[in-house]
Amino acid sequence: MTRVATPIYMDNHATTPVDARVVDAMLPYFTGQFGNAASTTHAYGWQAKEAVDRARQTIAAAIGAQPDEIVFTSGATESNNLAIRGVADQARRRGNHVISVATEHPSVLDPLKKLAARGCEVTLLPVCQSPNPHAGHIAPEQVAEAIRDDTILVSVMLANNEIGLIQPLPEIGQICADKGVLLHTDAAQALGKIPVNVDQLGVDLLSFSGHKIYGPKGIGGLYVRRHRRRVRLEPQMLGGRHEGGLRSGTLNTPGIVGMARALELCLDEIDAEAPRLAALRNRLFDGLRETIGDVALNGPALLPELRLPGNLNVSIGQVDGETLLLSAQEVALSTGSACSSARSEPSHVLEALGLDPLRVQSSLRFGLGRFNTAEEVEAVLHILAKAVSRLRKMTSPLNPPPSRR
Ligand code: PMP
Repeated sequence: MTRVATPIYMDNHATTPVDARVVDAMLPYFTGQFGNAASTTHAYGWQAKEAVDRARQTIAAAIGAQPDEIVFTSGATESNNLAIRGVADQARRRGNHVISVATEHPSVLDPLKKLAARGCEVTLLPVCQSPNPHAGHIAPEQVAEAIRDDTILVSVMLANNEIGLIQPLPEIGQICADKGVLLHTDAAQALGKIPVNVDQLGVDLLSFSGHKIYGPKGIGGLYVRRHRRRVRLEPQMLGGRHEGGLRSGTLNTPGIVGMARALELCLDEIDAEAPRLAALRNRLFDGLRETIGDVALNGPALLPELRLPGNLNVSIGQVDGETLLLSAQEVALSTGSACSSARSEPSHVLEALGLDPLRVQSSLRFGLGRFNTAEEVEAVLHILAKAVSRLRKMTSPLNPPPSRR
């Protein structure tokens, strides 16, 4: 086997390394062109504003939006908060009901909990149960049935960060448009990986993040529809009225430039990169089943229309996921999602699929990305096979002695 550098990083849903071409684009804006984009009286400010304007245009064009519909934030967490709390605060008199899905990211679910605590009614739709090629999906009719006269917002993520599932947004968008209800989508995992166009998806609000697309951390954005229908939002960050008053705070010029360059690169390369990642992912799944055995797929079928190309989520029988990763430190993966594993709770996404607790506990999430190679996939298979075989020889609650099985 060719030697590969370890630890092998296959946790690209948690974050991605910044592409060197992105770093090159950002560097001038830390030193020579360091101006504040809001400074209107000198060249430093003008240069920064020009760079931000160019980046705004690039990002808007990439998702089929207009530049004045992009609000820069610190990341998708802030964008999700701004979308959900911003609409709810604005629409208090119009209605008090929000619809979302059980498998959303915590940065959607937690603001919804906060709204519920102040008296807002929140409907969380259940998803298609496992095993099913559509496990994790909601049916558009569920949204249609849940919408009421007082519904102010529907929030459905485009692609899930744990099981890579792609929700049927265009159909949901059509339903929301017909009923005159705003639709928000968290596209943090989808942007740059699958085509994203705000009109085709039928969304009014769309969250995205720099560090999931080989750009920097701490920068993201929210698309807020202004044309054809104007979305009204209550700002959540008050101050110097940047970003049309929707998000105050000095703009992160290098971050914005980097995120735009990162998105440009993703889109330039998507046609070759998506099938390359899907092939690596499929080989990984086949290899796990051949070399390890008792490997179950979590989430939808490995098909391009159902699942992100670089995502794989499996449960490995008789092995605790966390123990496995700690005993195989040459690979960098996660169990469930990195965000919720900071709290070390079982994955709410896998639970929502109806998986039993042992299967949730034995889950591993792979996120293949731009810098992963076929050699790395083979090396990971080898490393995991060795670690699993060692662990399966030991007894544990997940691997009881034969008499208790
Ligand atoms: N939504 C999804 C689907 C995500 O995967 C993440 C990152 N784990 C976020 C939101 C939060 O993004 P950020 O880290 O930019 O705040």
